[in-house]
Amino acid sequence: MHGDHIFGLPGLLSSRSFQGGETALTVYGPVGLANYIRTSLAVSGTHLKYSLEIVEIEDELVFEDATFKVTCKELEHGILSYGYRIEEADKTGALDAAGLAALGVKPGPIFKELKEGKTVTLEDGTVVSGSAFIGPSKKGRVIAIFGDTKVTPNELAVAHHADVVVHEATFAANMGDMAGEYMHSTTLEAATLAKDAGAKQLIITHISSRYSRDDNQSLVEECRPIFPNTAIATDFAIFEL
Ligand SMILES: [Zn+2]
Repeated sequence: MHGDHIFGLPGLLSSRSFQGGETALTVYGPVGLANYIRTSLAVSGTHLKYSLEIVEIEDELVFEDATFKVTCKELEHGILSYGYRIEEADKTGALDAAGLAALGVKPGPIFKELKEGKTVTLEDGTVVSGSAFIGPSKKGRVIAIFGDTKVTPNELAVAHHADVVVHEATFAANMGDMAGEYMHSTTLEAATLAKDAGAKQLIITHISSRYSRDDNQSLVEECRPIFPNTAIATDFAIFEL
């Protein structure tokens, strides 16, 4: 809920409206967020052209549907701050189209039934079991995104075996005392979390303005002896999962 994380939000919501956004939008965040957004919009006379729902987090399950689930845990930052874990549902394996073609089964509605694992009898009487033609299911991806925090045990559950951990590294390794005092993390602490959680990739972000872009490489290099697969976020950077 600190300003460097929420002061841009009313502007973003209002730009979305000015630029033609019309579909409904839901924003999730800590308690207090609804009052903050509604007040900012009202005081500035901003009228959104889309319907805005604001959900204030009250328990660890933030959102769930058939495709993904978002859970969170409270962090330690002296103000409400959460770590979010986004888990994609596992995907059913691909249908063995070549194997089915060999039996004379062509793509069409029958493929859908087979993909659901059903058993289908062909016109010539051949019985085909879908489960025999479905490849191994594809594990869903997991992304852990952290708000500001000092090191806290809750972080491990959020980052456990994640494909990507996005974590703040406000301070360089030599500023551990300062990080503790201001309830932030260092490069070393972010890297240690990624390692201890068995994550696959770490992206550090939220770098203090005392560092310039020229320091990015050295900040990443501080992480790599502990967690080699570390990158640093910069504006407009794109990371493929
Ligand atoms: Zn903060």
